[in-house]
Amino acid sequence: MKPEVSVVIPVYNEQAGLPALFARLYPALDALHMPYEIIFVNDGSRDNSVSILAEQFRARPDVTRVVLFNGNYGQHMAILAGFEVTRGEIIVTLDADLQNPPEEIGKLVAKMREGFDYVGSIRRKRQDSAWRTIASKAMNRLRENITNIRITDQGNMLRAYHRNVIDLVNQCGEVNTFVPALAYKFARKPTEIIVEHEERAAGESKYSLYSLIRLNFDLVTGFSLVPLQMFSMLGIGMSFLSAILVVVLVARRLFLGAEAEGVFTLFAITFFFMGVILFGIGLLGEYVGRIFQQVRARPRYVVQTILQQQPGKEIILPEDADAAGVSLEKRTVGR
Ligand code: UDP
Ligand code: MG
Repeated sequence: MKPEVSVVIPVYNEQAGLPALFARLYPALDALHMPYEIIFVNDGSRDNSVSILAEQFRARPDVTRVVLFNGNYGQHMAILAGFEVTRGEIIVTLDADLQNPPEEIGKLVAKMREGFDYVGSIRRKRQDSAWRTIASKAMNRLRENITNIRITDQGNMLRAYHRNVIDLVNQCGEVNTFVPALAYKFARKPTEIIVEHEERAAGESKYSLYSLIRLNFDLVTGFSLVPLQMFSMLGIGMSFLSAILVVVLVARRLFLGAEAEGVFTLFAITFFFMGVILFGIGLLGEYVGRIFQQVRARPRYVVQTILQQQPGKEIILPEDADAAGVSLEKRTVGR
């Protein structure tokens, strides 16, 4: 039977939390009384996640599908690979660490049924470390100002999308992207609801400060040219001020003679602007680097195998998946 709801979950080294996730996710979806499928995408886990997922596939092959990457391509690539294989009308994304309570999926689905094609969610009380909550608020504000994407709580993955939106997302070949923002671009009738948020059930966050900064650059460069334009504006402003300064200095020299004081003030100003210039070059590099990655057009990710029930075809056995790597034929390649 064709599923109505597809749930996509990226998994990266989550062995400690997966059993608890299964124990809550399946009952929560069974309780909705509608055909569903759950798509786990293993993002190159190096722990036991693959065998745990394979075991779960064996336990519930009717509603479980497992996409296995050959390496780590990042959370957003994993979600995109999951989207490619979804069959449902409503597609829900969720983290594997139980920070997004599976019991909230029902609320998202109910909202979608009201005719919205994008249901975002706002965490009632965010259960993350203080520095992350503060940094994330600041990024939210920056994004609100420089893009036309209106998402209250961008870091939250618990969201539902309509098939039409996902079909458009699947047509994009973006190498560095931010799924909630990309999908928002294609939504005609978006809305948001408030959901609960929990502390990570087990294991630890897969994002370091560095990868968080990278992700936020993906968001900014992927959806806005305002940072580049700001630098052009800054350049115009600075040229204008320097021109005034030149006029003032020439006049002063003519009427009062040469000046040699204020050397350290000059240093301070120079270093400040050197910092600004370096930042500008770096920013430019962020765009150029992404353009380079995009034009190289390498596969965005490689799907090694998909564990799923196929009518008429043999089920791919988990043992094969466990043998990971060389022996398996590479089946699909993301554009
Ligand atoms: N994740 C992934 N690939 C990565 C990093 C994370 O698939 O390279 C998954 C991870 O397994 C989890 C989700 O993305 O399901 C969110 O990761 P995490 O909970 O570590 O992020 P945080 O909640 O700290 O933002
Ligand atoms: Mg988390």
